[in-house]
Amino acid sequence: MAYTNSPLVSYTKISPNRTKNRNHAIDTITIHCVVGQCSVESLGNVFAPVSRQASSNYGIGYDGRIGMYCEEKDRSWCSSNSANDHRAVTIEVASDTEPPYAVTDKAYRALIDLCVDICKRNGIKKLLWKADKSLIGQVSKQNMTVHRWFANKACPGDYLYERHGAIAEEVNRRLAEEKTLPYLVRISDPDMKIRRGPGISFAEIGQCTGIGVFTIVEEKSGSGSKSGWGKLKSGLGWISLDCCTKINDK
Ligand SMILES: [Zn+2]
Repeated sequence: MAYTNSPLVSYTKISPNRTKNRNHAIDTITIHCVVGQCSVESLGNVFAPVSRQASSNYGIGYDGRIGMYCEEKDRSWCSSNSANDHRAVTIEVASDTEPPYAVTDKAYRALIDLCVDICKRNGIKKLLWKADKSLIGQVSKQNMTVHRWFANKACPGDYLYERHGAIAEEVNRRLAEEKTLPYLVRISDPDMKIRRGPGISFAEIGQCTGIGVFTIVEEKSGSGSKSGWGKLKSGLGWISLDCCTKINDK
């Protein structure tokens, strides 16, 4: 499959410490803590010297900005485990220098955003976390791993480790929300009006000619429709979802 990189990145400094072309599809996320409330630029400087022998795919600064140090197509040198890093996207998050290595709220929110984005682009349907080292590699049961399972380290720190369940839950909620669009509807009212916007106050600009199947790309609540309004993929306008039957996820 074709690898892509996150559009959320605002700073890129590719590290020499990487293996070109990962040998396994991306099916895992490994979150790390930096041990330092640093910026994406300073993390880039940390990974720049060859002598460092370390990198991560992404890093999140204390301010919530996201940096990239190793493209997703390549394997980062991050988790002290080659097999893990060949299949995982690794993320370093700026953290306090002392236990529990807390991260800022901005960094935490950016981490959720980045995980949602990684899952969407790589076809990971859900993040799964059981805090069970024996499930390493069994991605249908658990697809998040932690550095402390591969090396004698505290990483990702108790602050993030204890939030792995919450991170998975929040990411999955976001993925489910976004997954519902677009979808197909069958229209049962041949005289259904198409309006310029989501509500009866918007001008009629046509009507659905005949009964058919349409693709809804956006939903909004608005006057005159209990079920809300759906935007037609064709770009023609909005229809009331009251007379539509959802036929499947697309
Ligand atoms: Zn780590």
